[in-house]
Order: sequence, then C-alpha cells, then structure tokens
Amino acid sequence: RAYNFNAGPSALPEIVLQQAQEELLNFRDTGMSVMELSHRSKEFETIHNEAQSLLKELLNIPENYEILFLQGGASLQFTMVPMNFLNGNEIGNYVLTGVWSEKALKEAKILGRATTVAASTKEENYSRIPNLSELIVSPEDAYLHITSNNTIYGTQWKDFPETKDSMLIADMSSDILSKPLPIERFAMIYAGAQKNLGPSGVTVVIVRKDLLEKVSSSSIPTVLRYDTHAINNSLYNTPPTFSIYMLNKVLHWVKDLGGVKEIATANEIKASLLYDVIDQSNGFYRGHAEKDSRSLMNVTFQLPTNELDKKFLAEAKEAGFIGLNGHRSVGGCRASLYNAVPYEACKALQQFMIMFKEENQT
Ligand code: PLP
Repeated sequence: RAYNFNAGPSALPEIVLQQAQEELLNFRDTGMSVMELSHRSKEFETIHNEAQSLLKELLNIPENYEILFLQGGASLQFTMVPMNFLNGNEIGNYVLTGVWSEKALKEAKILGRATTVAASTKEENYSRIPNLSELIVSPEDAYLHITSNNTIYGTQWKDFPETKDSMLIADMSSDILSKPLPIERFAMIYAGAQKNLGPSGVTVVIVRKDLLEKVSSSSIPTVLRYDTHAINNSLYNTPPTFSIYMLNKVLHWVKDLGGVKEIATANEIKASLLYDVIDQSNGFYRGHAEKDSRSLMNVTFQLPTNELDKKFLAEAKEAGFIGLNGHRSVGGCRASLYNAVPYEACKALQQFMIMFKEENQT
C-alpha cells in the first residue's frame, strides 16, 4: 500500500480495511452487506451503540454528554452551532487560527448572529496559536469557539482556554482521538470523521446535555436541531450506516492498541521524526508553524525555492509518497500524520527528506 500522507480523507488502518473486506458481502451471517442492513435492525443498532460507548470509553466522556452521529461534515456544524446556541443578542466568540475557523465565524454571521473575535493570527499567516493571555473573552460570551488543530497551517492548541461555565466549543476535525482530552472543559466538540475516525460521511458531535435545553424549537428546522438527534439517538433520519460501521472498527482498533494515551505517544514519535529533520536541516526545510504551536497531525514545511518545492514533491511522488502537496493557501509541503499513518511511513519519509536535502542543498 501507498505511503499515504493525505490531509483528509486520509489513511485508514489496514487491518480495519481488511476486516471490512472480509465482511463486505455477508455481515455476521446476515447474508447481507452491512450497507444493506436496515438502520432500525438489531445488527445495526449494536454497531451504532457500540461505537458510541467505545468513543465514550476511549475519550473518557462523562455521563452528562451526548454523542451524536450526524451528516453534513464539520462544515454543517459551522452553521448548527450558532443556529442552536445563539439566541437573541447572545454573542459567539471565535478564535481565528486559520481558514476553517474563519469559515465557522462566517456562517454565524450569515445567520445574522452576534459574533466577536477573541484573537486572530491571520497577520502572521496563521503560523501560530495565540497565547491564552492574548484572548479577549467575556463572561457574557455564549461560547468561545476554537479549531483545535489547523489542518492547513499545521498548528495545534497545546492547552485549552478556560471559559466561564466551560462554554468552549471546538472543531476537532483533524486531531480528535489523537490524544487524551479534558472533556469537562468543553461544552461541545465536533469532528468530521475522515481523518482520525474513519471514512467521510459521519460527523461526531460530543455535546453537554445542558446545552440541548438552550435550543429554540420554534425557529430551527427539525433536522438542524441537536435535541432532535439526541432524543432519537442519532436515528431521526437514516444515518450514514457504513461510515458508522467503519468508525466502530477504527475505535476497536484504537482500543486494541491500548487507547488514546498509546496513540498520543506514537503520534509524538512520528511527528518528531519529521520535525527533527526540519530543525537539523540548517534552514533547508523551513517549518510554517512556530515551534510551540506545531501540530502533531500536519507537518507543514517549505524548501528554499518554489522550484525545489516542486522537485521535492515530484520526486517524493515518484518514490511512493502520496499527498504531500501543501494546501494552496500556504504552499510548500504538508505531511499529514494521522493516527492510522504507520511509523514506517514516517520513517521512510524522514529518510527521503534527508536524502533529498543531501542531493539538493548548495
Ligand atoms: N474543520 C477542519 C479543521 C478541517 O480540517 C476540515 C476539513 O479538512 C473541515 C473543518 C471541513 O470538514 P468537512 O469537509 O467534513 O465539512
């Protein structure tokens, strides 16, 4: 299989794909593919409920949180969050650390909700996460919204802001399940599945139950209300059954590896393979992110010239490394090292980077 460094959809654990392949035509003696099961069947219900309880167990999610499996990607959450949680003059406070947080803010504005910006590092081309002391927060904020990992820029929050009544909401699309989390500090966490959780199609929402009482039933379309999905155990309408089945398998895989603590250690080792090359390259490889904001999920870097960036990407592709092109808004290169990217792939890329530098530095 390819060395897959795609930013998302991204690598899945090989063993999970093998299991899905084995079961594809006949899921547990049903004589049907899991895709052909009714979402109201016992068999599917078991998969669905097991995925919820595994996530609860792996992330140590307290009883006062609901776990929802929705559709529409993280992008729909940009809309649903302000739609459900900003009533009247309530203010949504956003920390801007990249394009995805800008998009989250934009949707709140489109809805005509009151918003403010706690801090932004746009002037620095989003090369860092603001210090906690830079954030302008108020006890009046209905919530503080952050993007925990900035997929495009390769930055990641290391510590989370304290908010009054723990009204922190995080888009964790690109680092959920990569490390243990202080769940109690969050009112809500959401993540599109297609990086660390499984294939695209399902969006995981972890929401504190008291927030559901805030949802105004008269002004929000039924399917866009969190309480609708909570009351119906995410089965209000047909859920993305195959994606949930794959999510379940990925969660089993994480558990079998020893849980998120083990995963976090592996992720640190993987990322340091590449950051060490960058730091020891005498400026040949230049990281986009400031050191203390570096992401363990997306390693972003540039070479001394655009020509060398192109040569590096072309030769890397030739050598079997897939998905290393940087996002168009940053340029250069990006290696996404999500949970399912094996150590061996990162080691091979490290060796390739060292070799390329030796051959091309002047
Ligand atoms: N938020 C972050 C941090 C992302 O990386 C992405 C996609 O890459 C999104 C949101 C958008 O997710 P979706 O495509 O599931 O709407």
